[in-house]
Amino acid sequence: MRISYSALETYKTCPLKYKFQEVDKIKTPKSKEAVFGTIMHSTLNFIHTPSMLPPTLEQALDYFSRNWNSEVFEVELEERAAFSQGVSMIQDYYRKNDPAKSNIVDLESRFQIEIGEDENKHVVSGIIDRIDKTEESYEIIDYKTTKKMPSQEKVDNDLQLSIYLQAFLNRYPKEIENIDKLKVSLYFLKHGVKLTATRTPEQLEKIKNLFLDVIKQIEEGKFYAQVNPLCDWCGYQNICPMWKHKFKEKRKLDTEEVNEAVKKYIESKSQINTLKSQLSNLESQISEYMDQEGVERVFGENGIIARTLRKTYKYNEKKIREILEPLDKWEDVLKVDGIALKNILGVLPFDARKEIEKAKVVDKESKSFSVKKNNNIEE
Ligand code: SF4
Repeated sequence: MRISYSALETYKTCPLKYKFQEVDKIKTPKSKEAVFGTIMHSTLNFIHTPSMLPPTLEQALDYFSRNWNSEVFEVELEERAAFSQGVSMIQDYYRKNDPAKSNIVDLESRFQIEIGEDENKHVVSGIIDRIDKTEESYEIIDYKTTKKMPSQEKVDNDLQLSIYLQAFLNRYPKEIENIDKLKVSLYFLKHGVKLTATRTPEQLEKIKNLFLDVIKQIEEGKFYAQVNPLCDWCGYQNICPMWKHKFKEKRKLDTEEVNEAVKKYIESKSQINTLKSQLSNLESQISEYMDQEGVERVFGENGIIARTLRKTYKYNEKKIREILEPLDKWEDVLKVDGIALKNILGVLPFDARKEIEKAKVVDKESKSFSVKKNNNIEE
């Protein structure tokens, strides 16, 4: 299979979005955030394209404004805010970096790397924003225009940087001896901050396995919708089962009856929560009274309330085993505890996790409802 890194990332964020985009090839208009990101990347590329004299700040701003795309902005105020944000980002970039001093090896560097073996061999492609020569080695840099900055820990484990480094090492295999000096960085243009990390050969090996796993899921056609923080920017909301009901014109069940049922369900859920909390307060009050009076039943005008002590037991596993094993019944009472298994999964080696995942089968399926109240509805 041939797949781009960005498509892999889309699958990891939401498999259904991947299907819409890569399998069904449904086109959506580019979001203003994506267009803004492209213009910023292209400006940075212009700034660093090797030349006798790198562009001045004024020339960089001129390039940015000549390439500006007004069409994606519907509201003028929004467009003006985005434009001046771009200007500040470039000004800040020049304040903190001198383009004449950067030692660029490659810009927008395209790569293709093979992962896996034999019939399980795949090609992952992508574009590295920038590769610099540093005093000690090299630095791979990816520009980000996002508002949110990740923690250093996230950068230390960032998949994109790992795959870029692997691609770099495929091109310069000798540099593996120097891996501790090879830097991978994310430059957050909105904040003017660069977060840098390094990788170990073991980390790179793990990444390959992770990618093979993702590719396997794609090949098996696992395309479920995964609601995530990027849904607000997803162009497929109007056809996605998690969101399309929000779009009135798409509602098929838009009858009075169903609307009434949805309204009543949300109201009832809310009432249940209030009642649960009331019950819990009343139970504490009555229990306190029972303790005081030394009684286990209280008589009210409309009924009797009895208090019962419920006990749950656990067994001494060693002793039970000693009793049941000779009777050949021990295996009958053994059961895998799914919650306990999930709790230890994170600390197991990758291969063991993979094997456990393979051993998982659907036991029962049921659908449950959850309610998220609109912010404008009072609790
Ligand atoms: S709206 Fe969200 S859940 Fe639906 S396809 Fe897009 S990213 Fe996935």
